[in-house]
Amino acid sequence: MQPISKSNWIEGKVLEHKNWTDSLASIKIAARVNPYISGQFTRIALEINNEIISRPYSYVSAPSDNFLEIVYVKIPDGKLTPKLSELKSGDNILVNNNAFGYFVMSEIPKGDNLWLLATGTGSGVFISLLKTDAPWNRFKKVILIHGVRNKEELTYLDQIAKFKNKYPQKFHYIKSVTREKIDGCLNTRIPNAIENGIFETTTKIKISKTSQFMICGNPDMIKETINNLKNKGLEINRRSNPGNITIEKYW
Ligand SMILES: Cc1cc2nc3c(=O)[nH]c(=O)nc-3n(C[C@H](O)[C@H](O)[C@H](O)COP(=O)(O)OP(=O)(O)OC[C@H]3O[C@@H](n4cnc5c(N)ncnc54)[C@H](O)[C@@H]3O)c2cc1C
Repeated sequence: MQPISKSNWIEGKVLEHKNWTDSLASIKIAARVNPYISGQFTRIALEINNEIISRPYSYVSAPSDNFLEIVYVKIPDGKLTPKLSELKSGDNILVNNNAFGYFVMSEIPKGDNLWLLATGTGSGVFISLLKTDAPWNRFKKVILIHGVRNKEELTYLDQIAKFKNKYPQKFHYIKSVTREKIDGCLNTRIPNAIENGIFETTTKIKISKTSQFMICGNPDMIKETINNLKNKGLEINRRSNPGNITIEKYW
């Protein structure tokens, strides 16, 4: 049980529940929550056996959207997601009134190019960020890299195509599928591609101390990628000591 007062919960309605695969889904929700900033997360909860079970989820939606959206993986023995996956349009869902976190553009120092690296559900938060003007106004190039195991996990391709249409020169989107060879996709883990320079040769954009990286997803990927970026002279971004690498860990 989470020690969160009931007054923080807003009862929302499920507008749409989309299954991308058997274990990957996204939910659009109508709920009148306090304003949030792209890059932040909320907490989603259900009452299960008389307990409020809640977990944090990054917003995929942006403040300009007239719905809230999250994307999640169904964890077979998880406490929340198996019940979450049973929800249908019109069902009730609890959303925290407030949003949290500092994985937001205002925390990212100046730089030439913005690299957004995600595995799995980690790409959702970047969809939210890219729906806002800040990344496009602030950086010369924006590179979104999404690593997944199977091609069905390449979510939000329609939305990503809209970004490409709007910013054809500025935006690069790289898909990497590790468990199958797919035309138009790399077949490599993100840390390895940083180490051997594949992303740089694919985009013709050099990683340097003027690059900014935001990384979200699998903790092992994050750890190894940080090490490989440090080997290229980049530093973790801290408020007390600004750097190039800003991360969001999901577990
Ligand atoms: C700041 C923050 C933001 C988050 N945003 C998201 C999000 O946008 N989407 C999302 O799916 N999860 C997100 N999470 C993770 C989420 O809060 C839950 O941990 C997850 O949904 C599992 O909940 P559960 O109760 O079913 O499983 P639990 O009983 O809590 O089991 C947790 C275990 O599930 C696995 N796990 C957790 N998250 C994932 C994941 N995303 N992909 C693969 N395995 C995972 C890990 O092994 C973890 O130890 C976020 C976590 C944090 C801290």
